[in-house]
Amino acid sequence: MSEKSIPYKIYLSEDEIPKQWYNVRADMKNKPAPLLNPATLQPMGFEDLRPVFCDELIKQELDDTTAYIDIPQEIRDFYKMYRPSPLVRAYCLEKALGTPAKIYYKFEGNNTSGSHKLNSAIVQAYYAKKQGLKGVTTETGAGQWGTALSMASAYLGIDCKVYMVKVSYEQKPFRREVMRTYGASVTPSPSMETEIGKKINAEHPGTTGSLGCAISEAVEVATKTEGYRYVLGSVLNQVLLHQTVIGLEAKAALDKYGVTPDIIIGCAGGGSNLGGLISPFMGEKLRGEKDYRIVAVEPASCPSFTRGKFAYDFCDTGMVCPLAKMYTLGSNFIPSANHAGGLRYHGMSPILSQLYHDGYMEARSVEQTAVFEAAEQFARVEGILPAPESSHAIRAAIDEALKCKETGEEKTILFGLTGTGYFDMVAYQKFNDGEMTDYIPTDDELNKSFATLPKVEI
Ligand SMILES: *Cc1c(COP(=O)(O)O)cnc(C)c1O
Repeated sequence: MSEKSIPYKIYLSEDEIPKQWYNVRADMKNKPAPLLNPATLQPMGFEDLRPVFCDELIKQELDDTTAYIDIPQEIRDFYKMYRPSPLVRAYCLEKALGTPAKIYYKFEGNNTSGSHKLNSAIVQAYYAKKQGLKGVTTETGAGQWGTALSMASAYLGIDCKVYMVKVSYEQKPFRREVMRTYGASVTPSPSMETEIGKKINAEHPGTTGSLGCAISEAVEVATKTEGYRYVLGSVLNQVLLHQTVIGLEAKAALDKYGVTPDIIIGCAGGGSNLGGLISPFMGEKLRGEKDYRIVAVEPASCPSFTRGKFAYDFCDTGMVCPLAKMYTLGSNFIPSANHAGGLRYHGMSPILSQLYHDGYMEARSVEQTAVFEAAEQFARVEGILPAPESSHAIRAAIDEALKCKETGEEKTILFGLTGTGYFDMVAYQKFNDGEMTDYIPTDDELNKSFATLPKVEI
């Protein structure tokens, strides 16, 4: 197929929205390690998880063997409001870079929440409603997850309580108002409304919070309020499963034109978009059918993969959540106020952690000024104003394309463009004014945090 016959945007039809999610765990030889009970340090089964999570979602969480899981029709109907999402051939970026590389991106910012998070929010709200619950609680960092869950909850008519990391609550008042417009209650975290919030405020006076703190608060409220469960926007196996619609659509679109990517790149906060994007490709790699280079990109200020430890750790600061075996910086690690709020999490998806540990993917970290340079370059030629989180993937994609320019290789690069940056203009302003700084934690800081990792023998 000649190069120019590939359109600027490859759209699929509504009928081509996936009918099943793909569970990459089914093809993994080394399965991700089980979640552990924070009190007993024993693996958690269905009954143990019921006070916190919805039943159907627990089944998905624990299912390491079913390769394909049906997507209920009601959820596919909701997906139709904003999916299939476009797969864009970045002709303009390629030209601007003067690279022989072929660059594609899957754009997940075409919905009001502005990111891929709606793909899982609707699923989690759906199963909560189906179970007859009154509502859900959650945390949000930069605000994208909270917005997505508010939208999904409003659509299904259930209540939504959001604990928002304080720094974002203050920096992003408009995000907060979007959530309230969709009917959610929004509380800055750490708050003085929960036991754990009071404790964290006492131990770290003036703290601007972290996802880990907000998670503890949301879990506490869910377990203490009748008819509520906690839902999480990343990290968990179920979330990665829901996000496979990204990769399944991307692969279907590329297959139409006979295109096979050489390199697949995604930003990694808790790993859900990256896991979702790569799953069908990783499946082929695990089954020995094809090979791909898969690259996770994380902020240098919160380098879970590149400098973290592969160990059991708490998912939250308050140590009320199950422990997960993952690449982690330690649940006490409170990253500096990086502008990519959605990537400020100390841990990483247990699925991706295992795959990375087993050598199936790579990771690199990037500094935020370099990320914003890439974001601006991208915005000016491709038109889309990218989220700071997504721009980590743009940075790495541009770097790979520039390497191709040097070597003359015509590699095909696919990256995940997870969302838009309209609510991140304070960050863009800092960058435009030349006031953005790069903070990289020292080994000392990380070692202090590693020293507090729980001692688990399993
Ligand atoms: C939350 C978020 C991320 C990071 O989350 P993952 O679970 O790692 O995918 C990336 N990009 C955007 C726009 C986000 O909102």
